[in-house]
Amino acid sequence: MNKKKVVIYGAGFSGLCLAHFLLKRGIPVEVREKSGVCGGLLGSHTTEWGHTESAANGLLASDDLVELCEDIGIKFLKPLAVNKKRYIFRGHLMSFPVKLTEWPRLILFTLRYLLKSSAIRPKEFETLQEWAERNFSKSFAHGVILTGFQGIYGANTGQLSATLLMQSLFGKKKARRTELKGTLSFKGGMGELIQGLVHSIESQGGIIHLNSVNMTQDTGDVSVIATGLTAAKKLLESFDSPVAEEMKNLKCAGILSVTCFFKPTGREPRGFGCLLPSEYSFNSLGVLFNTDIFSHRSDYRSETYILPESYVDRPKEDVIENILADRSRFAPEAQLVGSKFYAWPDALPVYNKDLETFLRKDLLNHKSPYVVGNYLGEIGLSKILSRAKTLAAKIGESEF
Ligand SMILES: Cc1cc2nc3c(=O)[nH]c(=O)nc-3n(C[C@H](O)[C@H](O)[C@H](O)COP(=O)(O)OP(=O)(O)OC[C@H]3O[C@@H](n4cnc5c(N)ncnc54)[C@H](O)[C@@H]3O)c2cc1C
Repeated sequence: MNKKKVVIYGAGFSGLCLAHFLLKRGIPVEVREKSGVCGGLLGSHTTEWGHTESAANGLLASDDLVELCEDIGIKFLKPLAVNKKRYIFRGHLMSFPVKLTEWPRLILFTLRYLLKSSAIRPKEFETLQEWAERNFSKSFAHGVILTGFQGIYGANTGQLSATLLMQSLFGKKKARRTELKGTLSFKGGMGELIQGLVHSIESQGGIIHLNSVNMTQDTGDVSVIATGLTAAKKLLESFDSPVAEEMKNLKCAGILSVTCFFKPTGREPRGFGCLLPSEYSFNSLGVLFNTDIFSHRSDYRSETYILPESYVDRPKEDVIENILADRSRFAPEAQLVGSKFYAWPDALPVYNKDLETFLRKDLLNHKSPYVVGNYLGEIGLSKILSRAKTLAAKIGESEF
């Protein structure tokens, strides 16, 4: 008789991390990936102009990340000192984004936050816009708070759920052992992390099937859906899970990431990147200054522009024209030598009231098929990592 195992659908960061932590507990795993590669949204590529990332360029330091990287034997690449400077466009580039008239309410908010006042917490089903306007001046709410989230969650941040987005500000803080802070990556980029995970999984006896279209469920095995939201809805349906019906309203948004390489002029703004508020009619949501964030990226000046869903299907020349128009407003003219496009039509879950309503019902992860992914509360990789570790412990305790 075959030994009971965990079958994981999806070999993105969620699925690979889960496989790693299960194997660490001695639990056999089989990963079934629909596409021909591991990593899902994550991937690093070498172009003739330099390094590019298909989605995330790094992930936040955490104890779980330190543990993972020690386990799989890969070394961090710490960010460059200059990356500490961050900009926001408020008529001109500002590295400290507060205007004089915005100070009184910002100070009041800070005091209330330090005093742990419940008045500043998001209310049930309050949108980010309602929460921000309740706690800050309107100009700060729109120009800084809503803009701050647009590069992460895509456009129309006003309608997003304040409770879901503010979890890291108001949720329980875990005590940290690591002294590492901020965003970390690897010399070979996020692709090195994926390769490290794949190698570690396979060397511990885990099996990864690529191009896997065989969705037969083996009775007795435990199943975990580790895909994005759209695929998870379909898979839950194929498992005859009643939760699939409850997920019908949940939506994903597309996003376009374009890495552009310019001949450096020496006069560019230096730092992590810049947020580009929609109130100033930018096409892009924000830009990352890659060559200022991590070393080993390019001899050119590398910048990644994040654009909303409406740009995913636009002709490339048109998109580049829009990017250059945005850039001309905050950087000196420079020769564009090359670009690399990553279009994700269905990449990110929309963190709106529907998702908040669904998550409040707490319908998932009580039995197989379990789920892990970026629609369960947080979109970022460090949270996905900690969620995968917690789920591995739960499966280990309740199923084996
Ligand atoms: C442009 C962009 C920039 C980002 N930047 C950052 C950042 O800087 N920092 C950060 O922390 N996060 C960032 N994120 C978010 C982060 O990258 C994602 O949340 C994360 O990679 C999602 O990983 P996942 O494994 O849950 O899903 P995915 O990466 O979508 O992986 C799911 C996998 O499941 C597979 N699959 C689908 N259907 C099936 C099926 N039926 N059977 C089997 N397999 C299937 C897919 O092929 C895929 O490989 C960014 C995202 C984007 C789009």
